[in-house]
Formats: sequence, structure tokens, C-alpha cells
Amino acid sequence: MSSQEGSLLRHDWTRDQVLSLFNQPFNDLLFDAQVMHRQHFDPNQVQLSTLLSIKTGACPEDCKYCPQSARYDTGLEKEKLLQIEQVIEAAKIAKASGSSRFCMGAAWRSPHDRDIPAVAEMIREVKSLGLETCMTLGMLSEAQSDKLADAGLDYYNHNLDTSKEFYGEVITTRTYQDRLNTLANVRNSGMKVCAGGIVGMGEEQQDRAGLLMELANLPVHPESVPINMLVKVAGTPMADQANLDPFEFIRTIAVARLMMPKSYVRLSAGREDMNEQMQAMAFMAGANSIFYCDKLLTTPNPKANTDMQLLERLGIAPEEYQADKDSRQQEDDLHRAINEHKNDALFYRAS
Ligand code: SF4
Repeated sequence: MSSQEGSLLRHDWTRDQVLSLFNQPFNDLLFDAQVMHRQHFDPNQVQLSTLLSIKTGACPEDCKYCPQSARYDTGLEKEKLLQIEQVIEAAKIAKASGSSRFCMGAAWRSPHDRDIPAVAEMIREVKSLGLETCMTLGMLSEAQSDKLADAGLDYYNHNLDTSKEFYGEVITTRTYQDRLNTLANVRNSGMKVCAGGIVGMGEEQQDRAGLLMELANLPVHPESVPINMLVKVAGTPMADQANLDPFEFIRTIAVARLMMPKSYVRLSAGREDMNEQMQAMAFMAGANSIFYCDKLLTTPNPKANTDMQLLERLGIAPEEYQADKDSRQQEDDLHRAINEHKNDALFYRAS
């Protein structure tokens, strides 16, 4: 990476700076985001991830958007941790349908230590199929994080959800700092970080700016940044939330692209409710990753073949998983970040 590119990886954003990006004329913002995107990625490729719920429902947390919380009656059928054979089968199907990354999600506050051997086996088996692996299991201790990394987990997903200020409106059973601590544990264990948030929960633009500011000001940008549009599920406290202006959603993607130029920005939940034009505009704004499966944990997602048809019509190809290139790049980035932050608290351990 040239020094010019290095200077683009900023970690010192102020909210006013982020808001001024948001408030540019729409065409200027999209143009800048697309130019930035082209400096770091093939603009005609998207990374495809498949997400499987490996343990569904009965979560003790109170995330107000989530049908898996035990506190809300959403009619969701609970499922215990899947058997390893079921996970392998799903991973094989995902690979055959073109996915390069297989994400496994469990509705836990945090895993019990007794669950770790089973999820570690899932990681090893899915990796042996030639897929990148990602898990989202709730909060992780340092020791749990190290064990998942030892099993070969590539990515750990843990979203910040929203700004620090709005966070209390969304969840009360864990703190923002808890989330940052898990991200720190994941980074310290040497795994890649997948962290983003949800928009359309009733937050203000300054909260969307605050979320992106928190993510971009982490010592190392998350390699993967999912931007979710709230899926309003009946029975959750956010079921009747007003719709977010679609252009504001596209602006959020574009600003994420500008602030975290080398990260994969993922068009995540809520795609089922987006028409093709809006999805195409999201790609124009710099989104270059999608979830590609019939279901996102428990909510519907566009059918895989519909996605393929859209990508084909747009001349966009699925990105292939290049394990060696990815891990070399990750190592380089991490070493560079460590050198840049020698005197800082690089790993933002919790106070
Ligand atoms: S988002 Fe995760 S932690 Fe929150 S209620 Fe749903 S499953 Fe539990």
C-alpha cells in the first residue's frame, strides 16, 4: 500500500466531519464514494456470504429489533445448537451456490465454555470445505476468542448496532463498552473483525454518523462492515417503526465506503424490502458484499437465484475466496496498524 493510501485510513473522525459527508449533495457523495471504491476494489465484484442460524431463539438479551429475544413473542420456533452434520450440509450447499464465506450465528448472550468445542469443530469442518468462516455468538471472553482463533475462525461478527448515544434505546442488557471489549478480544486473538450496525430504528442522522465514527475510529477498521436496514418483525418493540428514507440508507453506505475505504461494506438485512434499483444504487455507493441465502438467521432474504440474476444484469461477478492473499493482506495490515499505533492503546482494552 502506498503512503497516499495509508493516509486515507483515518481513525480520528469527528462527528461534524462525518455529518458533512452525509450532507453533501447526493450525486457528489455517490460519485466520491464510487471513486474511492474503485481505488481499492474491483467495482464489478461482490463478495457473497451465507448465514446459517446454528442456534435459534430464546436469547436472554433485549435487543429491541430482534425476533430471537426470549422477551418478545414473535412466534419464532426455538432450536438447540445444530449437529455438526447439519452445519456441514448447509455449508456444502452454500459453497455450491457460489458463496465464499459461511457465517454461523447463535442466539446467545455469550457462549458457555462447554459450547466452545462444538463450535470449534464446526469452524474446522467448514474451513476444510474451502470456505471462509465467520461466527457471531454474542460476547466473547479473551480465552474464548483465543480458542475460536485457534480453531481457524477467520471473522467474528459483533455489531455496535448504533451510536453510543442512541444505544440505550435499543438494548439495555449489555453496554456499548461490552461490545467494544468483545471487538478488542477478537482483534487481539488475530481474527478479522466484522462489525456494523442497523439503521431505520428511529435514530437520527447524527446517530448514523456516530455509528460510522465509532467503527472508523477503532484502532484497525473492521475488515467487514455490515449495514443493515431494520427488518420490522411483528412482536418486537420496533415492529411499527417508521421507514427510513431509502436515500438516507444509500448515503449511509456511501459514507461508510468513504470512511473505511478498504473494508468490505455489506448490504445486509433488509434487502428483501429493497427493490433492484435501490440495491444497484447501494453497489454504486460502494457496497461490495451481500448475504446470499434464503434466510438471514430468522428473517427472509432474496432468493439466491434472484440475486444471481440481478448481479448478472448489472455485470457484477461473485468474488472468489483467495485464502492466501487474504491472510497475507491481513497480516500486513495488522503489522502496519501496530507500528502506526505503537504508543497508543492499540487494542482498546476495557477500562
Ligand atoms: S441480536 Fe443477538 S444478542 Fe440481541 S436478542 Fe438477538 S440474538 Fe440475542
